[in-house]
Amino acid sequence: MGVTHQHRPWGYSNSSDDLKPSWALHEDTLAVRAGLARSGFGETSEALYLTSGFTYDSVEQANHAFAEEIDHYVYGRFANPTISMFENRLAAIEGAPLCVATGSGMSAMFSSLACMVAAGDRVVAAASMFSSCWVVLAEFLPRWGVQVEFVTGNDPEVWAAALQEETKAVFLETPSNPMLELVDIAMIADLAHKVGALVIVDNVMASPILQKPLALGADVVMYSATKHIDGQGRVLGGAILGSEDYIKNTLNPFVRHTGPSLSPFNAWVLLKSLETMSLRVHRMNDNAQVIAQYLEGLPQVSSVNYPGLASHKEHQLALKQMSGGGTTLSFEVAGGQEALYEVMNNLRVIDISNNLGDSKSLITHPYSSTHRRLDEATKAAMGITPALARLSVGLEHAGDLIRDLEEAFK
Ligand SMILES: *Cc1c(COP(=O)(O)O)cnc(C)c1O
Repeated sequence: MGVTHQHRPWGYSNSSDDLKPSWALHEDTLAVRAGLARSGFGETSEALYLTSGFTYDSVEQANHAFAEEIDHYVYGRFANPTISMFENRLAAIEGAPLCVATGSGMSAMFSSLACMVAAGDRVVAAASMFSSCWVVLAEFLPRWGVQVEFVTGNDPEVWAAALQEETKAVFLETPSNPMLELVDIAMIADLAHKVGALVIVDNVMASPILQKPLALGADVVMYSATKHIDGQGRVLGGAILGSEDYIKNTLNPFVRHTGPSLSPFNAWVLLKSLETMSLRVHRMNDNAQVIAQYLEGLPQVSSVNYPGLASHKEHQLALKQMSGGGTTLSFEVAGGQEALYEVMNNLRVIDISNNLGDSKSLITHPYSSTHRRLDEATKAAMGITPALARLSVGLEHAGDLIRDLEEAFK
């Protein structure tokens, strides 16, 4: 789109060959360069096109634009140049053919499934997940006649039993929020494809940097861009990535007419954030590894959930399908909720907040906040006890974070 503009759109499927480097660019280069579509003024930074609509030179041009015979933006709910830059850059980093940006992670999660299921269809999901995703799968979809089955754990036999009959979609969150449980994407994708199911991975906790679900056999990846992609606590956003067939023929008709669109301003913030995402996520991952090891040694801490620890029950799987343990961990305090509340209230650097993936370290009590809405039995089955804290590790110096925890536990 915008073919009259000066492009350096590496990672575009329609990139002009004379501007394209002759070698395949590294992901870190794509994060800074891919999708860039300069306006013709030669601006260094990506432009923010804060417009809801577009004009035409003639009524004939409008006619051709609506008929999709020419590349011309028609309306903000369909596409916008700044949003396209964000979508193309994220697709290049992910190694996905196409991307659709949405206004939040939940609109991405909901749209990724709602665009393809109808009454009577069957969906299978890994049981450990973010609570709003659970509400969509356990409450809304069944209300519309979709049969949803949850599978606990990562046992290949249990998954094989759940994937014996025709299934429309398999939804996986790995690592899961807040228990950091893992499921084997490649193993489940093999089973799912045999019964005709599309595999959708909520890759929020790993981020686009530490896990590549499409390369492991998944068909669709979704993000809350609010988390590591922004990573600085400013805007909500979401994204869905997948094949040309899924995006063009299944997802686009749904999102264009139901309107979960991202604002161009938020897209611009997220686009610029992609340039530093790799640096941020790697540093946060290193800090989280150090803090997980520190917490594991504390007598007041009864358990630490972090895929980067050798004690994690799926540590071998983490080594296989992730390139780091991630930026978030959870832990249980031996003294129960009361002791945990005291520790959390004593922190001086780490903030109490329910967001994650932020440059600021944030701690939350899932039982009474993010996962509050789930009933007791569901929380207990997921392992979300009153003594559990989730810690999203930020970009502060690891020494200060450990000192903060040390003082708070005294
Ligand atoms: C936060 C989150 C979401 C939802 O994203 P929003 O941007 O808050 O709508 C979905 N899945 C996971 C794993 C999350 O952590």
